[in-house]
Amino acid sequence: MRNIYDVLVIGGGILGLSSARHLLKQYPSLKLGVIEKNVDVASQQTGHNSGVIHSGIYYRPGSLKAQFCVDGRDSIVKFCEEHDIAYDRCGKLIVASEPHELSRLDMLFERGTANGVAGLELVGPERIAEIEPHVAAIKGLWSPATGIVDFGAITREYARQLGEDGGVLELGTRVVNIRQHADTLIVETDRGERQARHLINCAGLHSDRIARLMETTIDLQIVPFRGEYYKLRKEQEYLVKGLVYPVPDPELPFLGVHFTRNIKGYVEAGPNAVLATAREGYRKRDFDLRDLSETLRFPGFWRVMRREWKTGINEVNRSLRKSVFTRDLQKMIPEICAEDLVSGGSGVRAQAVQRDGTLLDDFAIESSSKAVHVLNAPSPGATSSLEIGKYVAGLAAEAFSLT
Ligand SMILES: Cc1cc2nc3c(=O)[nH]c(=O)nc-3n(C[C@H](O)[C@H](O)[C@H](O)COP(=O)(O)OP(=O)(O)OC[C@H]3O[C@@H](n4cnc5c(N)ncnc54)[C@H](O)[C@@H]3O)c2cc1C
Repeated sequence: MRNIYDVLVIGGGILGLSSARHLLKQYPSLKLGVIEKNVDVASQQTGHNSGVIHSGIYYRPGSLKAQFCVDGRDSIVKFCEEHDIAYDRCGKLIVASEPHELSRLDMLFERGTANGVAGLELVGPERIAEIEPHVAAIKGLWSPATGIVDFGAITREYARQLGEDGGVLELGTRVVNIRQHADTLIVETDRGERQARHLINCAGLHSDRIARLMETTIDLQIVPFRGEYYKLRKEQEYLVKGLVYPVPDPELPFLGVHFTRNIKGYVEAGPNAVLATAREGYRKRDFDLRDLSETLRFPGFWRVMRREWKTGINEVNRSLRKSVFTRDLQKMIPEICAEDLVSGGSGVRAQAVQRDGTLLDDFAIESSSKAVHVLNAPSPGATSSLEIGKYVAGLAAEAFSLT
């Protein structure tokens, strides 16, 4: 019976484990498994992010992102308190360095307020100097509700609870194909076949591929964007107290390179957003022929490039030249110099792009009678993980007619 499941979740990231945990808490008699290709949970996006508990400022009012982030920010803090996971509500300052950014900063204040983000404050240079003494800006938006945490630690706690509730976590097992029979799915893995009545697809960077094994209507593709970080040298960490962000470009789903104090104490600068030549291409030299040729054959990618080619060139330039990266950071903290920065880690974002070239902004979660597919879950996906998990479990219960 070990290989036969009522519901099988693909992906042991923060969303797969949160969804599995919610579903099993609601339906304790389910035979539920989570399959993860890596030997540990949280090994892809979840373990390579900025570790920021976003407050909900940026997102279009009424969107899933706005709803899940605002609720998720509070539920994740409560979860950390209940399970003794370190977090810090250190607050975040979004800073306008140029006059043309002022109207966008005001717009963010209005958006955040509309989304119900408490404590937002538009601040001038004096207050900025109190919050972040080394930041130079003409105006800022202070968000005291923003915090930092280790999302890997949260995911490991979800996994622990799943095991306690009787769920099975199969690590080191990659799904390679899915065959559909009348009321069973045969899930082929590199460690033999599993049978499941239903699937939940939380495969992150590979979620479109898993979805395509089951559905014929998937019109989007994951395009991987690597985010590279520098770390501030220990002696320079005093320059940043909490989180310092620029005003983002409203046309793009990325937030711009920023300073983040990590819950482990060090300070990171980044991430940028460069096209990755492999879906799990954490290093510049990583290359995967299948991944790259799929991206290059996808019309949606070329439509994005036609529109955003200047941004693309700037991003590559900034990735290759530390001086350019440093210059962008100096707009916020003029004292920073290139010698203060050492190479840090990187993460790869699973950004869903539609065939018409739309970079999907909101979370995208679809369901059919056999499966729920999480197709776009970029930032603030980790912050929102408890709410997304609850939502996915609810969709699954309805779509699979669970009793
Ligand atoms: C650079 C960067 C910075 C970010 N910063 C933040 C932030 O500060 N705050 C925030 O809230 N969010 C942030 N995010 C977003 C956040 O990390 C994601 O929303 C979240 O981790 C998504 O979780 P996931 O479980 O969907 O994906 P993942 O963590 O990628 O998990 C998917 C899992 O599926 C597994 N898998 C894939 N294919 C298969 C297969 N065929 N068989 C078996 N297993 C498979 C993978 O190995 C992986 O473990 C950031 C993301 C990145 C990349």
